[in-house]
Amino acid sequence: MNWEARDRELLAEVDRELEDRNRLAGTHLVCRIGCTECCIGPFAINRLDVLRLQRGLSLLQRKAPDRALAIVDRARAQLAQFGPAYPGDPLSGALSQDDRSVEAFFEQFSHVACPVLDPVSGRCELYSARPLSCRTFGLPVHLGGEDLDPCRLCFTAATAGEIDACRACLDPQGREQQLLVQLERGEYNEETIIAFAVGAGSDEPMREITSEQDLEKVFDEPLAVVFKHSTRCPISRTAQREVELFLNKRPDIPVYLVDVIRDRLISRALATRTGVRHESPQTIVLRRGAVAWHGSHYQVTADAIRHNMPQGTV
Ligand code: SF4
Ligand code: SF4
Repeated sequence: MNWEARDRELLAEVDRELEDRNRLAGTHLVCRIGCTECCIGPFAINRLDVLRLQRGLSLLQRKAPDRALAIVDRARAQLAQFGPAYPGDPLSGALSQDDRSVEAFFEQFSHVACPVLDPVSGRCELYSARPLSCRTFGLPVHLGGEDLDPCRLCFTAATAGEIDACRACLDPQGREQQLLVQLERGEYNEETIIAFAVGAGSDEPMREITSEQDLEKVFDEPLAVVFKHSTRCPISRTAQREVELFLNKRPDIPVYLVDVIRDRLISRALATRTGVRHESPQTIVLRRGAVAWHGSHYQVTADAIRHNMPQGTV
């Protein structure tokens, strides 16, 4: 079973438990759209949360591209605001293992709203894809062997016994941990923050191929990624963001762009030379000019490119 199917199972179980406890809590719970205190201030999320948010963002990009781009813009503005204060890898977004500097950073920026929060409506724009910890806001929770308090705005008139009765026991079988182990492939098992999950792209532009000479150089590269992009297609915009995410994580690998509208002849020449039928958006991984992998449309994700790099090059 792939991670998305297993994640759906995990979320279904968590949401069932939360619904039961929400019913029990009744008026002790005062959560509503526009009540945003729990969405202010950065916090750590894991690899599974990242993948879920990115999947949610891709879906939103197809449905409402402007809203999706607004999230990315807010996230990028936030990353610029954090700048060198970010306690971790500025490229991958992986948080430092030094808990004290991470806590100090969270404290310093505790006034900054989550980039996924729509500042006008006060609504979470990726509600069904939100991290596990966001799902638990409001209720008292038992998670990972710990009892966590409810939101300070909820259960204000409840007794300790009433609070305990409403405590949600989340993921007792440790499904999340098992999934994280499945996903861990060495470099992405670290924690990060939401701004990196939805805003990381590359400020380093892709190198454009605009002539036969440029194309020749690409075929001479030991390893190269070529992205065929249509500026008129919303799916291509989504794919472009994924390629940028890859570029951000692997700035050592040259990533080239062919504008299939403007440079049709180059686009055709690439198809002829590689033998890969033209599609757009499309990504082709070349190792010394030979095709190592290719994918099109929604197959073009940062993870897919990374996982399909030829062995011995990652
Ligand atoms: S958890 Fe607290 S801050 Fe968040 S919506 Fe509920 S009441 Fe409001
Ligand atoms: S992802 Fe959604 S629920 Fe979680 S902090 Fe951001 S806006 Fe709030």
